[in-house]
Amino acid sequence: MTTIGAESLDPADWSGLRALGHRMIDDMFDHLQTLRDGPVWQPMPDPLRRELRQPLPRLPQTPESVYESFQRLVQPYATGNLHPRFMGWVHGGGNPIGMLAELLAGGLNANLGGRDHAPIEVERQVIAWAAEMLGFPTGASGVLVTGTSIANLIGVLVARSAMLGPGVRSDGVGGMRLVAYTSAAAHGCMPRAMEMSGLGRDALRMIPCDADGRMRLDLLGQALEADRAAGARPFLLIGTAGTVDIGAIDDLAALANVAAREGLWFHVDGAFGAVAALSPKLGPKLAGIDRADSVAFDFHKWAQVPYDAGCIVVRDSARQLETFGAEAAYLKRETRGLAAGGVWPCDLGPDLSRGFRALKVWMTLSVYGADRIGAIAEQTCALAAMLAARVDREPALQRLAPVALNIVCFRYIAATGDLDRLNADIVADLHESGIAAPSTTMAGGVLAIRVAIVNHRTEETDIAILVDAILATGHRRAR
Ligand SMILES: *Cc1c(COP(=O)(O)O)cnc(C)c1O
Repeated sequence: MTTIGAESLDPADWSGLRALGHRMIDDMFDHLQTLRDGPVWQPMPDPLRRELRQPLPRLPQTPESVYESFQRLVQPYATGNLHPRFMGWVHGGGNPIGMLAELLAGGLNANLGGRDHAPIEVERQVIAWAAEMLGFPTGASGVLVTGTSIANLIGVLVARSAMLGPGVRSDGVGGMRLVAYTSAAAHGCMPRAMEMSGLGRDALRMIPCDADGRMRLDLLGQALEADRAAGARPFLLIGTAGTVDIGAIDDLAALANVAAREGLWFHVDGAFGAVAALSPKLGPKLAGIDRADSVAFDFHKWAQVPYDAGCIVVRDSARQLETFGAEAAYLKRETRGLAAGGVWPCDLGPDLSRGFRALKVWMTLSVYGADRIGAIAEQTCALAAMLAARVDREPALQRLAPVALNIVCFRYIAATGDLDRLNADIVADLHESGIAAPSTTMAGGVLAIRVAIVNHRTEETDIAILVDAILATGHRRAR
């Protein structure tokens, strides 16, 4: 008779899986080492997409054969953001220590919703480092989340309960007309956060920007006055440290003053820009961020931690706790045993079960040092300045926005034809060529080629290759 318990997923003989595991690590190191020689991106061929679509696999396959599928179907057709010439959107490049940390975290399979264990101490340490980076007082609270989109949502929710009191959790906002303010250049996740919080996107005033992409304080003042006169209740001012289109940084000190004077919660979306605080050269651009009530940012962009790793830090931990504190009987806290540990991460955000994201952040910062991350931010800004100078020298290129940090917006100019169409085609051609991957945006009403240099691997030669490819593609298409 067999005993019940034969269904464990651990292998009877570990040696084969161990060998495969070692091979996976070797293969992935090879991949990282030879990235630069391959295409930035290539589309996944349709036959392979079809091959991936299978009914629920009822029966087992060998790990070797499934790994072979990964290598053939998945790995060659990934996003491309590891590559030094991936310059689209705002994507971090990841790093090899972070990759290994993911393996270790997966091995431990820790649940960081709560309870008393070392992985949670690691996350508390990471949050304390984030607070230190921002110049926040010790005792600030925070949690790691998927990304800044969710971190911004948490910022809105904490601001809401700070204004209305924790009773809003049971009562809802009722007829209260809460209004928030941010710049017209704010990321699209900000209006979405207002939608998801139930306050509504129309309750977010998108204040126009000046020529440098910063929120206009005079118009902010007028909007506040008009809303108060109309009986609405301003509760939240959102500054942006590094706008998604051009990398502009609002005058955060001035916004902090407005928030203090008007009794508003001051939240900063510093998705990538907040990491500039790690650079002595760039840090001063963020002056005033240390006066924010909450800051949302990503470790997975400029800080080079592998996806995903967003972060929200709240100056006054009591405000975060009263927004999310969990009271269910099955989450009861004890003074000893595994259920001890006081405030748990599930008291600080909407997630209960959560993985060990903190480990890759902790290991990345520990191995490279925060100064090195700041130096990478500086390097990407220096490359952006170099690119801007080259664009300004090239008669066939026109720069479309000032360069505050690491983002350059420009376009190819031809004598005739639809320039928006031409520039969109140039970008798509570049993607398909595998040479480089910038993205597009609108700047001053026209379509811009947008180059955001985020990756630690990007070098001067990559900028030259990018520009040469844009010029060659433009000349070929405009001929
Ligand atoms: C990327 C970005 C976001 C969204 O962050 P995710 O990590 O993608 O959720 C928000 N704001 C700004 C300014 C960004 O650049």
